Amino acid sequence: MTDLATRLAQLDSHLARFRDAGIVNLINGQDVPGSGGSFDTHSPVDNSLICSVSRSTAADVDTAARAAKAAFPAWAAMPGKERKALLHKIADAIVARADEIALCECWDTGQAWRFMSKAALRAAENFRYFADMAPGARDGQTLQAPGQLNMTSRNPIGPVGVITPWNTPFMLSTWKIAPALASGCTVVHKPAEFSPLTARLLAEICRDAGLPDGVLNLVNGFGEDAGKALTEHPDIKAIAFVGESKTGSMIMKQGADTLKRVHFELGGKNPVIVFEDADLERALDAVIFMIYSLNGERCTSSSRLLVQESIAEEFHEKLAARIKRIKVGHPLDPATEVGPLIHKTHFDKVMSYVGIGKDEGAVCRAGGERLGDKGWFVTPTLFTGATPDMRIAQEEVFGPFLTSITFKDEDEALRIANGVAYGLTGYLWTNDLTRALRFSEALEAGMIWVNSDNVRHLPSPFGGVKASGVGRDGGDWSFDFYMETKNTAFALGQHKIQRLGA
Ligand code: NAD
Repeated sequence: MTDLATRLAQLDSHLARFRDAGIVNLINGQDVPGSGGSFDTHSPVDNSLICSVSRSTAADVDTAARAAKAAFPAWAAMPGKERKALLHKIADAIVARADEIALCECWDTGQAWRFMSKAALRAAENFRYFADMAPGARDGQTLQAPGQLNMTSRNPIGPVGVITPWNTPFMLSTWKIAPALASGCTVVHKPAEFSPLTARLLAEICRDAGLPDGVLNLVNGFGEDAGKALTEHPDIKAIAFVGESKTGSMIMKQGADTLKRVHFELGGKNPVIVFEDADLERALDAVIFMIYSLNGERCTSSSRLLVQESIAEEFHEKLAARIKRIKVGHPLDPATEVGPLIHKTHFDKVMSYVGIGKDEGAVCRAGGERLGDKGWFVTPTLFTGATPDMRIAQEEVFGPFLTSITFKDEDEALRIANGVAYGLTGYLWTNDLTRALRFSEALEAGMIWVNSDNVRHLPSPFGGVKASGVGRDGGDWSFDFYMETKNTAFALGQHKIQRLGA
């Protein structure tokens, strides 16, 4: 196993180029500094400066959108088989540079190596999965009607904007960009301002693998200027957005004048419901994993534990004991399970919920403290004794912060589970099959796992209901978003046409 010192030395060699040149936009295959100057990005590990980053304006977004528009006809017309080969080349290059990607991601976001090394490889899988679907993406259906034959086909919608957040940014970006490219769309990508490193690596990897100029364009900067301009640009036909629910709502308004198609993956306050008849050892492992992995900065995290009263105290005891043993530390240390939070503003937000939970009368059973004085480390936190109406039971904290609420019976569990604005995922632990079927039917969530943690399957739909999202990704759902379906009807004979004015 590579030790921390070796990893730090490797990281340093990868960061040298960013220190020297900063991160600039990559538009139409060229390095282009943003016209709004630059901003600095810092590591959440020790708050040290990583590099400067281009701050883009609406003018830069316009240049990128025009490049994407110019590149669109040739890219859309490329046979799917050729696109497939190119996307596999990109996947190969991601695998070849997976360590570099993971090191940069850990340093930029504070995520632990144990998860980011896998996330980089998952990103390559995203490219391979959608690459394989590229040759058939335009295929449609033949639908028989009386006297008519209907044929459907799909065409890429045009240049699209992809706007991504700072949690696991590399993997998440590929989850959007790979299907967009596979379906024949060109892309302008605006990554999160807090985590710009690996978006630059992805753009370079694609360029170096032979992706034609203008097919993927990178524009760095802030949401309120670069992001907003992208959502308002008339040449951008759709916006795939991952981020906060309130940002999604802003984007919907910003895109209204140009009738943007939008796909939103937004926030969550996902319940994990543990019934007394469950396999409690496995449930315990899953509860801990699904809130403390990825620093709890995970849209699908199970941030609300709903546990049946009869087993609650014993479950809480075991939970608190395990949580206190979670290893918080340097993200590049192979032993680390939880790293620092992305940024001071986010750290302040998470810590504010510790105060809110205490003020509301819930009991802080573990964590809730800052660790060290340089980076943004928070000890894994557990609040018990919460009631469903408390803010810590309703609002997305997006950190290593678990709120536990007890319930008496199935009806109460369902009421609490559904009693929030969000509806992304739900996790259900019970060995009663009929209850599992009944409960999952009634649970308001886009994705539900029964007796399981979140195990992602690329062909299955991904997305949320209520304030957690609009639309679905995964499998053919992704292609439906990036493509327009066309229906052509052929008359099979001489059917009667009304003769007005004859
Ligand atoms: P955010 O909404 O603050 O920012 C996301 C992106 O939107 C950034 O690139 C930002 O610059 C941009 N942006 C901000 N304002 C904009 C505007 N007015 N117009 C256009 N773009 C704008 O989110 P965040 O804090 O970076 O990420 C955390 C959030 O993302 C959490 O709520 C989390 O649940 C959510 N998330 C959801 C999923 C999912 O699949 N449902 C996955 C990951 C993260």
